Amino acid sequence: MCNDLASLCACFRIDAMHTDAPQPSPLRGHTEALRELMQRPNAQVLILGAGINGIATFRDLALQGIDVALVDAADYMGGASAASSHMIHGGVRYLENGEFRLVREAVQERNRLLRIAPHLVKPLQTTIPIYSTFSGVLSAPLRFLLHGSKKRTERGAALIKFGLMLYDSFSRDGGRVPRHRFHGQKKTMHEFPQLDRAVKYTASYWDASAHSPERLGIDLLRDATEAGGDRARAANYLAAVGVREGGVVLRDQLDQSELIFHADVVINATGPWVDLTNEGLGEKSALMGGTKGSHIVLDHPELLAATRGNEIFFEHNDGRIVLIHPLNGRVLVGTTDLEHDMRTPAECTEAEIDYFFELIAHVFPGIAVDRSHIVHLMSGVRPLPRHGDQAPGFVSRDYRVERSDFAGARRAMLTLVGGKLTTFRASAETITDRALAELGAARKVSTAERAIGGGQQFPASDRAKARWIAAASSPLSSARLRALLERYGSYAASIADYIADRPDEPLCSAPEYSTAEIEYLSEQESVVHLSDLLRRRTNLAFTGVSASGIAEIAEIVAPILGWDSARIASEVAAAEEELLPRTRFALAATAE
Ligand SMILES: Cc1cc2nc3c(=O)[nH]c(=O)nc-3n(C[C@H](O)[C@H](O)[C@H](O)COP(=O)(O)OP(=O)(O)OC[C@H]3O[C@@H](n4cnc5c(N)ncnc54)[C@H](O)[C@@H]3O)c2cc1C
Repeated sequence: MCNDLASLCACFRIDAMHTDAPQPSPLRGHTEALRELMQRPNAQVLILGAGINGIATFRDLALQGIDVALVDAADYMGGASAASSHMIHGGVRYLENGEFRLVREAVQERNRLLRIAPHLVKPLQTTIPIYSTFSGVLSAPLRFLLHGSKKRTERGAALIKFGLMLYDSFSRDGGRVPRHRFHGQKKTMHEFPQLDRAVKYTASYWDASAHSPERLGIDLLRDATEAGGDRARAANYLAAVGVREGGVVLRDQLDQSELIFHADVVINATGPWVDLTNEGLGEKSALMGGTKGSHIVLDHPELLAATRGNEIFFEHNDGRIVLIHPLNGRVLVGTTDLEHDMRTPAECTEAEIDYFFELIAHVFPGIAVDRSHIVHLMSGVRPLPRHGDQAPGFVSRDYRVERSDFAGARRAMLTLVGGKLTTFRASAETITDRALAELGAARKVSTAERAIGGGQQFPASDRAKARWIAAASSPLSSARLRALLERYGSYAASIADYIADRPDEPLCSAPEYSTAEIEYLSEQESVVHLSDLLRRRTNLAFTGVSASGIAEIAEIVAPILGWDSARIASEVAAAEEELLPRTRFALAATAE
């Protein structure tokens, strides 16, 4: 039985040396990708939307030998996939909605991702503080039977115990995840001395966390490029905006030029934008009812220490389930669930920030938190199905595929409605099988046990990591190799080679990254804007980037991407506007 983090990691271990380390295929830069699409503006399948679901479907189809193209109106992984709570989880709370199919599948996918993407998906101990013994025991089954009744009673220990027993039973498939544990007040206060004294029990169980979902997306893209070569073409900043001459009009978001792309099957994987995309393509639909969720990221060592490495997952005063998640040396706090109009940008409001401070005070009343601790804000819209007047928290998190005739495709359009980060592989498999059926083709390869990107031959245990580092014939220090290994998995070997070949020094603003590493990412990972690099190729935005850091990185990127001084200035200004929350709060405070 695995009963701590280290032995749990070992349970899912894929140990290996890096003698024949996997070589990541470079992603095409925007101009090159566009040129390739224009030279041959057709494919069997065109996927709209490169969030986790569109990218995973792209990979799956490329592995089947299908000629496939993928486009995104903005950056890869820039939509809902960049706004998640970073949990790879079965969704214990969906049990009270009666979503047993989803929970079973999500738990299996969680266990699977720990095996096939062990460099990016890690076990996460989750702890629920509980204030009462019996609350909710009657109301929860009632809520399940009445499906989404808004009547609410606090979830007590007995109800949570029942839910976790059920969750454990789902967890037995495909993994040796430890069972949940319950602690009384004495043990709870010993383990979490800063928790509210009114907490009567804690329940702890294991889920998983993706410390960088954006890098998971990049790894899936690289897998697709590797498998499909010039039959798997992808471009960011290319939006589907209309239908002409039986094809989809794709518009370059940088210079507004257009091309018409023909495909047998078009897959609409634009997540919360599905209806808006359809509208642009002349196909009215009313499939989606996405809700906005925000998070704040805090640089707060005391709060970080108080979590003891656990995600604290609990019911707030208003009955919503919220979380305090220690991640990348920071604390992620979320989230909200608010109706949202997709025509307006999703932004974290001051009221949401106040709500987050209240929820922290609810469980850790002695820890002072204010706006000066915020280093990053995140906001996105969940791609939920249309849900009428059902309360957002009770809307199904499951996914489905809709087929429709479409003037812009030779055969059909397939639309993905819903789909969580956790279940991306399974939903991609479902939609790929539907596309294969449309094309009259058969599945050749399963993705079920296929390691993702730098998860191939990844040395997961501490001992295997030490062996990997010792065997590396690299001039880089052991500490640096270890950092690269943690960040890029087994791709670290080829990145270390790239770095060793050129002048390199730690960034002044973020010494955990280096100049040559930033050059590598800019050159090989289809970076268009500075914020792509800061938010989605690195963790720099998440952990908190300063104005001087933004300027420093822009100077490194500029020669690689051919930016002149005017472009540097506009990229820096845009990144500052997007990423410096402290400036915003300082200004707001002055205005009050
Ligand atoms: C606050 C919040 C917390 C969450 N927490 C979790 C969690 O902890 N665990 C979990 O498993 N899931 C979580 N989710 C859900 C999960 O993040 C999403 O369900 C998932 O990322 C959806 O991915 P997607 O690829 O379908 O959509 P997206 O990631 O939104 O991708 C859609 C893409 O379509 C592009 N696009 C839009 N219009 C066009 C167009 N016309 N042409 C081309 N491209 C277009 C967009 O730019 C975007 O990149 C959370 C979601 C939110 C918002």
